[in-house]
Amino acid sequence: MFNDTINLLGLIELPLRDRQFTWSNRRDVPTLIRLDRVFINHAWNTLFPTSSLSSLTRDTSDHVPLLAKVSTSIPKGGFFRYEPSWALHQRFRSSISAAWVSTFRPDPTARLVARLRLCRKEGGFGVKDLHRQNSIALRHGEDRRVIDSPSTPRFCSREAYRSLAPAQPLDTSSCMSWALQAPSKIKIFTYLADIDRLSTRANLFHKSCAPSDVCAACPCPETGRHLFFACRLATATWSRLDVPIPAGDFSIWELQAPAPFDPAVWRVGVAAILWSLWKSRNDLVFNGVAHSADSTLRRVCDDLALWRWRFRVAHREPLDILRSYVLSCLES
Ligand SMILES: [Zn+2]
Repeated sequence: MFNDTINLLGLIELPLRDRQFTWSNRRDVPTLIRLDRVFINHAWNTLFPTSSLSSLTRDTSDHVPLLAKVSTSIPKGGFFRYEPSWALHQRFRSSISAAWVSTFRPDPTARLVARLRLCRKEGGFGVKDLHRQNSIALRHGEDRRVIDSPSTPRFCSREAYRSLAPAQPLDTSSCMSWALQAPSKIKIFTYLADIDRLSTRANLFHKSCAPSDVCAACPCPETGRHLFFACRLATATWSRLDVPIPAGDFSIWELQAPAPFDPAVWRVGVAAILWSLWKSRNDLVFNGVAHSADSTLRRVCDDLALWRWRFRVAHREPLDILRSYVLSCLES
């Protein structure tokens, strides 16, 4: 009944850490029992999360006096987290160098500790800079985010990235993917396909998310390279289009067009072919339906017809030429 009441009221017992029993009958062979307890409710626990219970010395009573301390102080961890992007900031080296020589203590250990502390204080400037690039004043009207950038004072993630990493070369693969005139999911898909980060069997197996890395269509490991350029369906599709597959490591944007197509249109074509190969692969893996080069290319034609409306009128004709070429490669 006692326990039922405790449970019904949702009470929590404050643990007594320095003593096991609180009552004794003081006989030669004593009976020792834990009789005295302190309970708190959930609201109390939220308000005073570090409350504690300890015992005092017993004088006259056969019960041990208990002392409950009410406390809210939560110990804070002094973790320092280094951001690798700080090293890319143009002022990183000078700030750290200045901090390193700005203090001198005769004791080498104290000197090292003081220097590390100063460097740690200076190190976070890269992130802090984003917030203090311009002086902030509260005013009426719409909020405006700004950044002290040479090209534009308007805050945008691109300028923030360039401001933090001015020496970083642009990633041409991602530039090509984002510039595609295709649905957003296709842009993301082609980017992941180019850097081999799709959920292929090999990648899933590597992350312990698949029982094996073997391709669903052949006994080879299903890497992105295998799936899109070496597996039976892929080689049949590319050879039907008369597209040579380069040897070794290459970017999908290095695939040579079989005819002088508009380069931007050809890149959309490459994306459509990879997407269709991926859809064929998924159909085989999840539905057990095997596709041929013909059905894969037919889906490419459908997608190109669908994406045609994303192109400016002037660019639709080059896309139609590419689609006609893919159609001409169909067997039936
Ligand atoms: Zn395969």
